[in-house]
Amino acid sequence: MDVVVPLGVCVFSEAAANRARAVSYPNYVFEILAHAGVFHTNLTTDQIESALPKLRLLVTVGEAELPASLKQKLTEWVRAGGAWLSVAGLCGMDELFGATPLHSTFKNWGGGVRSLGEGYLKPEQPTHPMLAHLNRPLHYFGGVAVEAKGATVLADALDAHGRPAGEPALLEHTAGKGRAILIAPDLTGTIVSIQQGRGGVTRDGVPAPDGTSPVNDGVLKSDDGAVLDWILDREPVPGADGLSIFIQPIADLWRELLLRGIFYLAQSTGTALPVLWYWPRKLPAIGHLSHDTDGNDPKLAQRLLDTLAAGEVKSTWCVILPGYDGEIMGKIKSAGHEYATHYDAMSPGLKWGGAQFDRQFAELKKMFGEQPVTNKNHYLRWEGDTDIWDWCLKHGIQLDQTKGASKTGEAGFNFGTCHTYFPVRFDGSVIDVLELPTPTQDLVVFAPEAIFEPLLAQAKKNHGVLHLLFHPAHFHNDAVAAAMATAIRRGKQEGLEWWTARQLNAWERARRGVSVKKIENNTLTLHADAELKDATILLSSAGPFAAWGASFRDVTKTLSGTQRIEVE
Ligand SMILES: [Zn+2]
Repeated sequence: MDVVVPLGVCVFSEAAANRARAVSYPNYVFEILAHAGVFHTNLTTDQIESALPKLRLLVTVGEAELPASLKQKLTEWVRAGGAWLSVAGLCGMDELFGATPLHSTFKNWGGGVRSLGEGYLKPEQPTHPMLAHLNRPLHYFGGVAVEAKGATVLADALDAHGRPAGEPALLEHTAGKGRAILIAPDLTGTIVSIQQGRGGVTRDGVPAPDGTSPVNDGVLKSDDGAVLDWILDREPVPGADGLSIFIQPIADLWRELLLRGIFYLAQSTGTALPVLWYWPRKLPAIGHLSHDTDGNDPKLAQRLLDTLAAGEVKSTWCVILPGYDGEIMGKIKSAGHEYATHYDAMSPGLKWGGAQFDRQFAELKKMFGEQPVTNKNHYLRWEGDTDIWDWCLKHGIQLDQTKGASKTGEAGFNFGTCHTYFPVRFDGSVIDVLELPTPTQDLVVFAPEAIFEPLLAQAKKNHGVLHLLFHPAHFHNDAVAAAMATAIRRGKQEGLEWWTARQLNAWERARRGVSVKKIENNTLTLHADAELKDATILLSSAGPFAAWGASFRDVTKTLSGTQRIEVE
């Protein structure tokens, strides 16, 4: 066991089939950390003991029956100054965590661990570094139900209806010179549930009670499976009376809670952790424009092309068959924009199905004269669980944009994220297709322009992607064209670069090929499988770069092969 990074991460084996569990998709913690660029040492349960002397921080996910000798070693390690952050598991170490498991309120056939169920994490110490990014209760799905026995309760649990649940959700306990933190909610399962929604869209969803989101429209779309709450997860839009949308990306706030926990503990233990920042050149976020060519009217396409040219940005064109004439298709390409597919399972006679996808993909690929990288489904149509991602995978499409909002009142982050992410199947296996949700459609027409500034602010705060969809079909409306021009300008003013989905995909995949070979004080030896131009590398310690409630030293450098890099 070679420990390079003093942050160890261990996922305990999942409960056997037909057994209760406090955590779902526990291995998704590796996807969360990989996307955040937080380097770490992967450990199996058996490797923890031998790794401990070289670790300063330990993150574990789930419950485990640990051997007595390991319990003893973990206790000694924490008491000597180590820091342990556990997600949804006490591992029989009640004394170390200052908490004890709660049992079922009535003897339960099948038995096992008591879940927190669905609810909300409500900060009790809102200025604590792990919670300072929250201004409202945070929706979760599952977790471990415990009672505090000496730990400080940083956050409490509310039930699914927003009522006090009487259980703690976030606990911190000092032991000797070290500390142990328990995130009781199922952080990994919550993020997957919010991002992917209910698996298997087979029926209409339930509409919002204010009339703004009639998702029960007889058409199966990704939003029919969304799990966020109309009442508790949406917020009013300033300047648009009567309209509430999903302003904050709830899954991203959960990701940040974990990252804040890690860097809070890094700071408290004086540990320098290396990070590959989300974006090059220290960028705070990225802007992305996509266009679905519904109607394929060449005059309107030209108008949109002119607006992009004036704004000096490149975008992604999701082309629906039969596509534009050769002249417009050529102009899209020569201006540097991206050809992408727009799968149609909505027009009369076009049923949802793999064979239909195969045919449309083949025709579009032939028209493009190149392999498409990006897809978005017409009307955000969605059926089944992961079918569309599997079809993308089969055809070499590496990024999909079909999770999103089809009604005004569900605009914003109705799938909880402004980041690209790799989805998972029910068995937890990762699907090698990035998803970049579509949080809104044409400003002015689909939703008032008033939603733009809140979404821009959130993309920036969460360091993700501000994705705006504009249909050329609406470019007969001057106000829509003006709204897109304004969005481009405002994004640039806030420090965003506008990228195509092809660029987003290439960047994210290249990031995943970077590893840390050695850490010597402020000098890192990194290896990059593919070149990363102007990558920003961080080292957690007093420095000018701020993120996740912590400060970092930073350096921006093009990575390729193996390099020694000093982070000054
Ligand atoms: Zn469309």
